[in-house]
Amino acid sequence: MLEFGRSLPSGVVRSMLRLGRKYAIPCLEKEALSRLRHDFPTTLEEWDTSEPEDHQIKDANSLHTVLGVISIAHEFRLFTILPAAYAEYLGISFLVASFCHKNAMASDHFFEQDDVPKDICIPVKARECCLIGYAKILNYLKKASTDALCPPMILPSETCSRSGKCKTIKWKAIQELPIWLTEESSGLSILDRWGKRGPEATGGLCSRCQDEAKKLTNEVRSQFWSVLPSFFGLAVWADLKDDF
Ligand SMILES: [Zn+2]
Repeated sequence: MLEFGRSLPSGVVRSMLRLGRKYAIPCLEKEALSRLRHDFPTTLEEWDTSEPEDHQIKDANSLHTVLGVISIAHEFRLFTILPAAYAEYLGISFLVASFCHKNAMASDHFFEQDDVPKDICIPVKARECCLIGYAKILNYLKKASTDALCPPMILPSETCSRSGKCKTIKWKAIQELPIWLTEESSGLSILDRWGKRGPEATGGLCSRCQDEAKKLTNEVRSQFWSVLPSFFGLAVWADLKDDF
């Protein structure tokens, strides 16, 4: 029985798949696939319960890991992990900045790959998927944020305990929900859990109005996840299968 570490670098996971396939060693393949599917799940519930410290594939930094995993997914046709991997990449790195900052690691790995080792080179197809997906996601978020500001308003809550105050800041509170963020420093925030920034961002509301904002956040995230593969030109979740 082989024993593996709690977390492994993406390069090791790739080697396990290559060796497993070449020499027909199912336990290597199984272990590698299990780790990839654990860290890059197909459901939002799994995504939300997966703490970064519990991840089973880790490199020197998370950007290196996710680019390595995207590359592995393309090499072994593991389509089911791609939506979460692409989303994680777009959550870490602001794509436009990758063009602007020539020395950024994202740029080195993502756009200028002349000197990048073949193992962490991102396929052209993946780069296209992220660029097109990013544009589609921005469009999606723009529409979702506009919809949230249209009647019927979620704020103030029917049970608002201080309707005067919550009413005056309702527009601002909705506009500033972290789910719409597309920051240069941290990429997209749509898949961040409510607890990461939601309570702080809505701190000016009463607790009942905060609950409404949380409900909206969860609904937007859930709808976003349900169509996540489509941003990247992949089949819908129900039809998405690995071709391993
Ligand atoms: Zn209120």
